[in-house]
Amino acid sequence: MVQVLFTDLDGTLLDLFDYSYDAALPALEALKERNIPVVFCTAKTLAENEYYRKEMGIEDPFIVDNGGAIYIPDNYFSFGFECKKKGKYCVIELGASYGRLREALKEIREETGFKITGFGDMTAEEVAEDANLSVEKAKLAKEKEYNESFIFDEPKEKDAILFAKIKEKGFSVTHGGRYYNIHGKDADKGKAVRILTALFKKEYGAVKTIGIGDSKNDIPMLNAVEQPAVVKNKKGTWLDVSLPTLYKAKGEGPEGWVEVVEKLILISG
Ligand SMILES: [Mg+2]
Repeated sequence: MVQVLFTDLDGTLLDLFDYSYDAALPALEALKERNIPVVFCTAKTLAENEYYRKEMGIEDPFIVDNGGAIYIPDNYFSFGFECKKKGKYCVIELGASYGRLREALKEIREETGFKITGFGDMTAEEVAEDANLSVEKAKLAKEKEYNESFIFDEPKEKDAILFAKIKEKGFSVTHGGRYYNIHGKDADKGKAVRILTALFKKEYGAVKTIGIGDSKNDIPMLNAVEQPAVVKNKKGTWLDVSLPTLYKAKGEGPEGWVEVVEKLILISG
């Protein structure tokens, strides 16, 4: 049976702090040799996804901006489907536009006085420093289309007010490893995974889906796959989620990722 891997990037395939993935290289090669699709499912932007796809030599579809859109390379599937043509991709859009998300954050800031700083409020140099990225990569991270990442510099108990405000404006919020994210309410990783899984099934018939993540924004993705797995985070613990078939890797970040790929995919492929 064809296996399809959906994977988060930050804190999962990439180290949360230095974004390295050296430990995962041999396992990535093994997946490529077996033609197992590796679908990035991440809060990262199109530009960042393209960077890592090129670096890792991956040519499969990918999910950007926390489920904001699905990018499918031209002619990847043998059949046609409804999508928006964009460069060398066919795009299925699920999210709200960046401009509308920025506007909502601005309104919330004015209504509450909360200290909210979005990537759009920061220079590439500031994003680079805060996210521990090179300036070049920070520029890629700022090219958001369906999601805005922001720093919420308020006590934890203000979270509830912020979340209610975002909901009131008709949007959703997720809290990933490092930043809060505001996005369209129809955009989540799970919905994108389901749409893409249906396309893979149309192409290959039976498909087994595996999902690997590390934090809260991965829960919809983990719910949408047949075999969910989590890697350990920097605190040495796992995401608090209860799913009947959840596999908990002993390793942290990319090392845990390798463990999941070896134990759950390569062994049965
Ligand atoms: Mg993550």
